[in-house]
Amino acid sequence: MPSALETLVKILKLEREQGCKNSAVIGGLAAFSEKWSQDAHSQARKPEHHLLVDELNGLLRQYETVESKTDRAARIGYMIDRITGRVPAPPEFRAPATSVSPPEQVAETGGAPPDISPSPEQPPKTDTPRSEQRHERRPHRENKQHQEEPKAETANQPQATQAQPEQQPRRERPDRPKHQQQGQQNRPQNKQRPQRPPREQGDDDDGEDGGELFQERGDDMSYDSYDAPVRSRGGRGQQVELDIAPMPRLARVPRRPRPQISGEEKADLLRALSRPVTELRGVGPGMAKMLEKLGIYTINDLLYYRPRRHDDYTSLESIAKLVPNPDKLVTVIGTVIHTEIRIGRGNRKDFFMVLDDGTARMGITFFGRHFMIRQVKKGHQVVVSGVVSIFGRQVQMTNPEWEPLENENLHTVGIVPVYPLTEGLSGRSLRKLIKNAIDYWSERIPDFVPEGTLERTELGDLGWALKNLHFPEGWDHLTHANKRLAFDELLTLQLAMLANRREWQSVPAQPLDVSDEYLTTFMQAVFPYPLTGAQKRAIEDVRRDVAQPRPMNRLLQGDVGSGKTAVATVVIAMALSQGKQAALMVPTSILAEQHYKGISETLSKMPGDRKPVVALLTGALSSSERQSIYRGINDGSIDVAIGTHALIQEGVDFKDLAVAIIDEQHRFGVEQRKALRSKGTNPHLLVMTATPIPRTLALTIHADLDLSIIDEMPPGRIPIQTKVVQPVAREQVNNFIVAQLNQGRQAFVVHPLVEASEKIEAPAAMEAYERLQQVFFRHKVGLLHGRMKPAEKDEVMEAFASGKYDVLVTTSVAEVGVNVPNASVMVIEGANRFGLSQLHQFRGRVGRGQHASYCLLLADTNSEEAKMRLQAMEETTDGFKLAEMDWKLRGAGDLIGTRQSGGSTMQLAEQMTPQLVEMAQREARTIYEEDPNLSWEDHRLLAQRVTMLHNERTDVS
Ligand code: ADP
Ligand code: MG
Repeated sequence: MPSALETLVKILKLEREQGCKNSAVIGGLAAFSEKWSQDAHSQARKPEHHLLVDELNGLLRQYETVESKTDRAARIGYMIDRITGRVPAPPEFRAPATSVSPPEQVAETGGAPPDISPSPEQPPKTDTPRSEQRHERRPHRENKQHQEEPKAETANQPQATQAQPEQQPRRERPDRPKHQQQGQQNRPQNKQRPQRPPREQGDDDDGEDGGELFQERGDDMSYDSYDAPVRSRGGRGQQVELDIAPMPRLARVPRRPRPQISGEEKADLLRALSRPVTELRGVGPGMAKMLEKLGIYTINDLLYYRPRRHDDYTSLESIAKLVPNPDKLVTVIGTVIHTEIRIGRGNRKDFFMVLDDGTARMGITFFGRHFMIRQVKKGHQVVVSGVVSIFGRQVQMTNPEWEPLENENLHTVGIVPVYPLTEGLSGRSLRKLIKNAIDYWSERIPDFVPEGTLERTELGDLGWALKNLHFPEGWDHLTHANKRLAFDELLTLQLAMLANRREWQSVPAQPLDVSDEYLTTFMQAVFPYPLTGAQKRAIEDVRRDVAQPRPMNRLLQGDVGSGKTAVATVVIAMALSQGKQAALMVPTSILAEQHYKGISETLSKMPGDRKPVVALLTGALSSSERQSIYRGINDGSIDVAIGTHALIQEGVDFKDLAVAIIDEQHRFGVEQRKALRSKGTNPHLLVMTATPIPRTLALTIHADLDLSIIDEMPPGRIPIQTKVVQPVAREQVNNFIVAQLNQGRQAFVVHPLVEASEKIEAPAAMEAYERLQQVFFRHKVGLLHGRMKPAEKDEVMEAFASGKYDVLVTTSVAEVGVNVPNASVMVIEGANRFGLSQLHQFRGRVGRGQHASYCLLLADTNSEEAKMRLQAMEETTDGFKLAEMDWKLRGAGDLIGTRQSGGSTMQLAEQMTPQLVEMAQREARTIYEEDPNLSWEDHRLLAQRVTMLHNERTDVS
């Protein structure tokens, strides 16, 4: 759970990114600080924490009064530095006496963290030894802050950053932390975690440490020091050296010169990569079967098999200091001093052992694993990782991960990958298998991204990235590895799309020459309202496109209710004006019907004698009806066909389809879009979506489409009132719903996608359905979820739309744009689990009629971030703004994660930050402009990758 400080760091960074306009949070930082400081105080554990919160609160409040951007940036830098402990607290915010850091320490370490007080378990010590200890701990943090970030001085806290002369000569080696020089024998993590590379001047990461700090520590409230703790264990009795090296951080991703190997050799290597996994040692037919279930067929698949998560076993603890905590994984190293088999519940034979690490002893039980008695012997040294519980009055562990203490502890030391598994395949064996493959291949895999590109983007080598994807040396490394791999996806996708676009535009289309007069007359005749400026601009875009002798390929983005249908209608009219046909495809039959009714009515107002003939084509038609529509489409007596997937069935054959439109395009796969296009001869294509994607991102994942955006709402909407409600107030929510129902309104209740699986999603909604039927016993409750058949879904939706149900309990399927003007309440449970864009979509289901409408959000967490995100829903109804925010706070996952992008889903969406997307875009264009066919020697491997993608996605529109 992100702590208040973590949230603040995020916001500060966002604020800085947005140019210090006090826009990172709605209402500004001062307003934000009120709520924030309450939360932060409630999380604070020591007096120093409270002081830090007070100090930050003061700074946040004054933020808007700081005039210049530079000063604002400086203030942000200062706040981040304070949070990360890079600069000491100014005197007025210092805790009295004991925890004040001695000045020379400040100078030497480049700023002491606000709290360096000893942990409570430690006997109080005098300042001197402690400061020495700190010197040992922070071997590489040199005295640089005040050189590099003089801006902090302007942040009206000059005393905090005043450069202090180094009063003490640096002791020990500059390149090697002292704690790494001692006690070598007993530290298994030496191999696993190389020491942090020495930092170079100018290599500091410019105040970005905050986020990583929290991530790195895996701590919920990191008020403490900046570096990962390096504990020196002065235990009772003998001294046990269980120091753990600080997590290495990356100033710059290491890159190695490429091996000079011939194209032939590279090709060989690539071929070897696509060999079946069975060629690896240890993979027999049985193993291969299980791997297949995970989608791993080739060695390449194995190398790219993504861990579900990584567990952090970096918090090595001594037994004497353990406290029970079900949420924290700890790792302990010790000697086994006793083993036995115990009979547990139900005659289960458990293995029990006692571990002694020199500070204390602890009992560990492994349920049902009696056979361990043969593996673990008295005197063995082992590493165990698990959660600590309490039994009687003693701490203990049950069923921890364990392994013998070795040089290379794969499963319990450091940051350990956790993979999605399948029955019969253990995490340990998969980890081992991947480790072996990675060890070999990370040295050899040919990198397909041109060196120049890596140079410019400062990304790591492919081999390095793959290695750190699985076995990261530090969290920093994992971030960089993911970044590189996400970049690869973006780059190849872009290149594939650019190639597609070229291909698509190389075929001729029928230019539609639509006169101004025709359009104006049409619009005046059919719409009872003037079109908005944004609608007109979109229409102009389309008109320009269709006048070309090559097919239009345009994406129209516009928020729910922004009036895309009107634009689509005008586009249909463009085809009609030339005596040609148009088709509109939508994802559900109820939506098809709505469009059919609406558009038929609109078109019936067309000037002139011959009114266009509009047909509705859905799966619900009888065979004879269908045949008759097929005939009409084929002989041209039908001008406009509106329908579902039924439109792309065999038998549908247009006489002269000039314009094809797809609504809610993200609901369609590539194949379906392609199929619709193939119903005519290179028709002009317009795809529409109500899910706003920030422009940069849209340009990447839809690089083959031109983009029009409707960013203006028709006037006169009653805004939907949105409110975040505490779960304890659910009763009130239900009462509110009943009140609305009693007024004749209808309500949606959305239940979250607990996991990205409909299997799990559906029961959640079903349960709620059972419950809500009782709550709303006077009304009719319907259920709609993703596992229903399309026909069933339509039926339920239709029943709701026609008022047969009063309440519709549903999952995320409710997103699709069905119009139920009578619905006035949208309740979203577990709202924090949805992206803001998605929430915004749900919200768009209500407020479509003349009734005042409400959106109520219930979160199932108290996290600061969730609160902030949901608050944004209260404060803005601008879908683009919400999408931008989502992107910055949560990555692109919510925006494109569940969506198909040109055939395959994006794997690394959460890594796709605005900067990375822009970078990939720039690089793709550079490469494409220089060498559109990717025929250069340097681009050969890249061309292979792109072709692979391109073939998978022969048509991306
Ligand atoms: P969406 O973009 O979600 O598909 P619709 O096309 O369904 O939105 O439009 C929503 C509502 O707004 C419709 O009732 C439509 O009649 C109305 N509308 C569209 N354009 C305008 C406009 N320019 N002025 C006023 N109302 C409009
Ligand atoms: Mg619509």
